[in-house]
Amino acid sequence: MSTRRDFIRKIAGSAITAAAVPQALMAGNQPEGAALKVAIMGLGSYGNRVAEAMQACTRAKLAGAISGTPSKLAAWQSRYGIAEKNCYHYDNFDEIRNNRDIDAVYVIVPNALHHDFVLRAARAGKHVICEKPMAVNAKQAAEMVAACDKAGVKLLVGYRMHFEPKTLEVIRMRKAGDFGKIKFFQGLSGFNIGDPTQWRLKKELAGGGAMMDIGIYSINGARYMIGEDPVWVTAQETKTDFVKFREGVDETIQFQLGFPGGAVASCLSTYSLNNLDRFFLDGEKGWAEMLPSTGYGPIKGRTHKGELTQPHITHQTIQMDEMAAIILDNKQPVVPVDGREGLKDMKIIDAIYEAVKTGKKTELSL
Ligand code: NAD
Repeated sequence: MSTRRDFIRKIAGSAITAAAVPQALMAGNQPEGAALKVAIMGLGSYGNRVAEAMQACTRAKLAGAISGTPSKLAAWQSRYGIAEKNCYHYDNFDEIRNNRDIDAVYVIVPNALHHDFVLRAARAGKHVICEKPMAVNAKQAAEMVAACDKAGVKLLVGYRMHFEPKTLEVIRMRKAGDFGKIKFFQGLSGFNIGDPTQWRLKKELAGGGAMMDIGIYSINGARYMIGEDPVWVTAQETKTDFVKFREGVDETIQFQLGFPGGAVASCLSTYSLNNLDRFFLDGEKGWAEMLPSTGYGPIKGRTHKGELTQPHITHQTIQMDEMAAIILDNKQPVVPVDGREGLKDMKIIDAIYEAVKTGKKTELSL
């Protein structure tokens, strides 16, 4: 695993632009600000990945854990030195309100549970980081944004690509006009899903299928690569396995997004194809290709000017340090990661599902 120290050493000699380097990482040997003390809820596959990555953080600290499984809590206590008093179950975690050791709760459980747990964390007065998709529809997402506003806490969504150096370099180039007027984006997001019994294939826990899980990367990517929000969507679904992908669980959806500046995005979301992790951006003066574009990395990319050389650092390490700076210092990220950003993607997903049903163009107002 690349560490923060590796990253700092690598960028010392690289041409990476200051704008593309997250500030929290550039803190280097300077005295560091206060740390954001985070409790992770959901000690599954991704929760473990985040916890591991946080060991290299300078601004974010893993301070608590919330799980329904006592043996997992015990394992995390010994592995990460988490105090017993900072461990909770799903039933009693509202008591976190009185715990000054915890500033924020990071919700990393199945999608359909995000809404309720985010509302409870907000009511407990804690900042909330919520995994993508932030909810299973836009109504839930809007309620989560409102609840966090009302409680006076910040709500961030786990969009790790928003801090990835090569991605940020393409965004910088687009803003600088290097690609000229953007005309086209292609996003391919998919993998062959395994175990047919997993929660990702259950509508009641996943809220949908591939679109909720992996297609969202192309939706979000289209927006940050083009730099606009779409105004219409069309979509077509294909299903080859009606046993594995039951009613309400999409296997493959192709969708198109139209942007106010005239650009069009053509995207594919699937649970039935491997080797599908590619972004391509085309403008009147140049182009960018990311391949892979959103996996855990290293991300690879090139533009009409050549290879992107920004170094790889564990995505979740940068993400958590940057999110600490957003929450503690009010830092503004290059690409937003707040609840309203997540809500836009949920509105697009709602519109894609509607367009699949009607076969018509669905207008969007984000
Ligand atoms: P997982 O199945 O590995 O872990 C889910 C955890 O939730 C488990 O610890 C499980 O015990 C717990 N859980 C609590 N209530 C549950 C219930 N009713 N049913 C099933 N599990 C329950 O899943 P994961 O891969 O860690 O995904 C969790 C969330 O993280 C999802 O929202 C997913 O989209 C997101 N995720 C994000 C990324 C990313 O790159 N940002 C990557 C993977 C997953």
